[in-house]
Amino acid sequence: MAHPVYAQMPTTIFEEMSGLAREFGAINLGQGFPDTPGPLALRAKAADAVLNGYNQYPPMAGLPELREAVARHYARTQGLDLDWRSEVTVTSGATEALAATFLALIEPGDEVLVFQPFYDAYPPLIRRAGGIPKLVRLEPPHWRFDRAMLEAAIGPRTRMLVLNNPVNPTGVVMPPEDLALLAEVCAEHDLVAVCDEVWEQVVFAPARHQPLLAAPGMRARTVKIGSAGKMFGLTGWKVGFICAAPALTHAIARAHQFLTFTTPPNLQTAAAYGLEDAQGWFEAMPRELAASRDRLTEALRQEGFAVLPSQGTYFLTIDLPGSGVTMDDRGFALHAVREAGVASIPVSSFYEQAPVTTILRLCFSKADAILDEGAARLARARDLALRR
Ligand code: PMP
Ligand code: GLN
Repeated sequence: MAHPVYAQMPTTIFEEMSGLAREFGAINLGQGFPDTPGPLALRAKAADAVLNGYNQYPPMAGLPELREAVARHYARTQGLDLDWRSEVTVTSGATEALAATFLALIEPGDEVLVFQPFYDAYPPLIRRAGGIPKLVRLEPPHWRFDRAMLEAAIGPRTRMLVLNNPVNPTGVVMPPEDLALLAEVCAEHDLVAVCDEVWEQVVFAPARHQPLLAAPGMRARTVKIGSAGKMFGLTGWKVGFICAAPALTHAIARAHQFLTFTTPPNLQTAAAYGLEDAQGWFEAMPRELAASRDRLTEALRQEGFAVLPSQGTYFLTIDLPGSGVTMDDRGFALHAVREAGVASIPVSSFYEQAPVTTILRLCFSKADAILDEGAARLARARDLALRR
């Protein structure tokens, strides 16, 4: 028999909404992926590696060229000093990195701090590793936390904090004072911080991403997770990396070796090439995405929607009551995809307790014409709902 957690679990909200978008021929502003094919030079490199390169098992911890490129990239962009041999592991996407980390570091009964709204994979993966998620509930419009909220969720069994920064779905890039507070709390309570930083390159000026790993006292107790899929707008590639001090890396790599063992070598070769950033991608990509964010924001505001600020990720959010929508987020998302042909993501899906039901997430990594039409269709969805 299946484990009850899985037997009763619905598919993810991303799968559900993309499925409905296909069924209804809708514009898909739900699941986060760009509608461009991704950097040509990287795809050419991957194709060449498939045709002319080595297609057998690569080393378990990843190709040395990629692990070195990861360490160099973080030295250049985030001032980190990582030893690629003992502190970098390549995984099959950030999702596998999260699974390996939880399996390796959680003991049955350990409590793990998780912010709501969370990335949907965290609670089920933590539970299957034997952990107990302890939820810290954040609210719009600022999604801020303070020491009292953290302390209230921490008990004698708390061992770990999971931090997603930049934050999906809210578009927040954590300010240095929030990171400093988290570092203090982790040190005081002897917590390991698992930092899901897959959106670290998708940050819009003047916001700047800073890794919690670099905060005082965090070097030995932080697991930093990245994703080439997100860095290069190639979300299907599923090449992730884990950076952590040698003792943590050792344990996590042992979990990784029995999850996927390795990741396709050709995509690793291409990711290594991309990280050297010969094309200036890391400068151009956020600039272009910031223009798309502004375009969708403007189109939505013209239609009377209340748009919340987004400093990073592919997403912005709208406040439904402030936009004249009386339905809750899930009701409106289902109505909009079926009746007006536009898919979105209800943020209540990322809560387990006391969900915020007033916020809708929209993906703006799309062509201008799609964004304009998406905003018009959302307005139509609102008007149809009001007429009911
Ligand atoms: N964490 C967060 C916060 C994400 O948004 C995503 C993907 N959107 C992932 C993890 C998964 O990344 P990957 O596709 O590399 O597994
Ligand atoms: N992370 C992507 C998003 O937030 C979706 C990933 C998935 O479909 N699991 O939209």
